[in-house]
Amino acid sequence: MTQSTRISIVVPLFNETLNIELFFDRLVPVLASLALDWEVICIDDGSRDDTLARLIRQREKQPRIKILALSRNFGKERALTAGLAFASGDAVIPMDADLQHPPEVIPLMLAKWREGFDVVLAVREQRTGQSWSEKLRARAFYWLFDKLSEVPLPREVGDFRLLDRKVVDIINSMPERTRFMKGIFAWVGFRQTSIPYVQEERQYGESRMGFFKLLSFAFDGLVAFSDYPLRVWALVGSVISGFAFFYVVVRLIRTLLYGIDVPGYESIIVTILFLGGVQLITLGILGHYVGRVFNEVKGRPLYIVRQRWGIDQPEND
Ligand code: UDP
Ligand code: MG
Repeated sequence: MTQSTRISIVVPLFNETLNIELFFDRLVPVLASLALDWEVICIDDGSRDDTLARLIRQREKQPRIKILALSRNFGKERALTAGLAFASGDAVIPMDADLQHPPEVIPLMLAKWREGFDVVLAVREQRTGQSWSEKLRARAFYWLFDKLSEVPLPREVGDFRLLDRKVVDIINSMPERTRFMKGIFAWVGFRQTSIPYVQEERQYGESRMGFFKLLSFAFDGLVAFSDYPLRVWALVGSVISGFAFFYVVVRLIRTLLYGIDVPGYESIIVTILFLGGVQLITLGILGHYVGRVFNEVKGRPLYIVRQRWGIDQPEND
């Protein structure tokens, strides 16, 4: 590694006013201590506070800080996608602006990269400030994802990781609209290793990931990486039909032997409700996949850049 090796830090920001100064005060000394060329690509994801103004002020102090302002809030996954497309480094490290990802881990990641790994995952040692119900939810999601998808997701890994240029190029060339980055990162493979880190508390503000947002995020992830929810209904249907057939035979024999007894209203209504429910669930899941296909087919851009500071090179595809 020489002076001409460049690393790019990619930071999506949405209403992070209070964190910005703290973040750069910790990040910049770490980067400056490396004998490397570096840049920080900040993506202002349509913040409604003065995040952008503060970023511009940071850039005046340190021109290696580059800014991409999106035209509105597109969500973290897409902001990250934009950042990866404009990053020019030989290695790219996405990280959060709320200081949950300690910058001090970066030199350790670079050491692993120098050893020849293409992806270096930062694995959370312990999650501070997480309730047991949050832990339970996370575990349930990972369990289900691993059962259903062709690639397992690494545990306790967020978006904080180092990616070699060749991995970034491949991710940039992936056309899908649903950017479940965790899944995409896992899907591309390559030589991976991991290093542990302790995730800190968010400095200022609240996490943007509320319960329903997380639920929909998890569902999106599953649907994007598995068609099992579509196929499982064939199995459920066959099992139910099998039982139904067996039951018809039993009823027939009974009727032949003992004649018709009191008609079973309950059993009929239960059967109808149950099957109706199963059909509606199936339709809902089908709808979700059809909606997904619709979105992919529309082919709209993933994000729209309103303005950029310090980034003149075209988007790498
Ligand atoms: N973020 C973003 N767009 C959004 C939501 C979040 O760019 O719509 C950024 C946010 O500013 C932060 C990072 O994504 O830098 C992680 O967000 P947050 O801390 O809310 O998520 P969590 O750490 O709970 O996963
Ligand atoms: Mg956070």
